[in-house]
Amino acid sequence: MSKHEVSKPYFPGFTRKSVTFSIDDGNLVLDRKFISIVAPYGIKGTFNLCGNNMTTENREEVIALYRGFEVSNHCAYHPYCLEEEMRERIVEEPFVEENADPDKIYPYAKIPGLYHIHLPKGWRNAAFVDDYLRFAEEGQRTLENVFGVGNIQGFEWPFGKQKSVECYERLIAMGFVYIRIGGNVLDTTGYAIPEDWYNWTFNATGFAIRGQVETYANYPDDGELKFFCIGAHSIDFLHNNNFSDLEFFAQTFGNKPDLYYCAGIYDIFTYCNATKALVITDNFIENPSDRDIYIKVDGEKFIVRSHTKLDLETKTLVFLNI
Ligand SMILES: [Zn+2]
Repeated sequence: MSKHEVSKPYFPGFTRKSVTFSIDDGNLVLDRKFISIVAPYGIKGTFNLCGNNMTTENREEVIALYRGFEVSNHCAYHPYCLEEEMRERIVEEPFVEENADPDKIYPYAKIPGLYHIHLPKGWRNAAFVDDYLRFAEEGQRTLENVFGVGNIQGFEWPFGKQKSVECYERLIAMGFVYIRIGGNVLDTTGYAIPEDWYNWTFNATGFAIRGQVETYANYPDDGELKFFCIGAHSIDFLHNNNFSDLEFFAQTFGNKPDLYYCAGIYDIFTYCNATKALVITDNFIENPSDRDIYIKVDGEKFIVRSHTKLDLETKTLVFLNI
């Protein structure tokens, strides 16, 4: 039997509950309102932007607006991914929304590879796989130009995960750390950390967050790291007239670092990965990762720094040779 009782890892702050959001489409006006509500409470999260909305004119505004938050790639032009058999619906006619035929697919006049398609909620952008991936790449380059190379780690499918397996596999090959599938999904896993980072989704939605906030706040600590992520568009709160619910979310979880770890998606996911890399023996805890890990030994709190080893006998940290 081990001489020491080593807990399962905690998030920074020695809590097991993480809190975040994943907000789509980059509506500058309403993202600003969203941020004005959550920022005073120290809430963090991720804004998923479509690179084509970035211009040289709004560059500084956009950088200032999203400072302190994660930004992710929601694909330039926000396209639906067209199936090959849909090519027969393409017509070489100018697109005029008022009298366009919803069974037809119309090319954009000025953007090669982009089409207009009629989806249940109206006319939307679309592209075949090769162009879809080109737009994903284009979005990535634009966002990296604005926010810095290495700062765009995720991708969120516009319209949720698309059918094309080829598209999915080629997106993964582009090197994203995570890919969100999307959808109005509520928690079904006891707020577990998503297992598959290429098929994860949020577990709370804007239209009904109040009840979900209360459920998560009261959720007991079962020893596992937890995840609470609102998925929405900032405009949803306008449509649902429930910015007060967003405030409730921020008030409940924000500015309580010993109860809730507020961070962006990439931060939370990579922290969880780092906890899995810990090497725990009877004599030491070794942390080979780039993240400091929060853990308890015999009930006492320890931060096992990145690339160090905690000696359980002397309770001191030793730097690893790297
Ligand atoms: Zn979207």
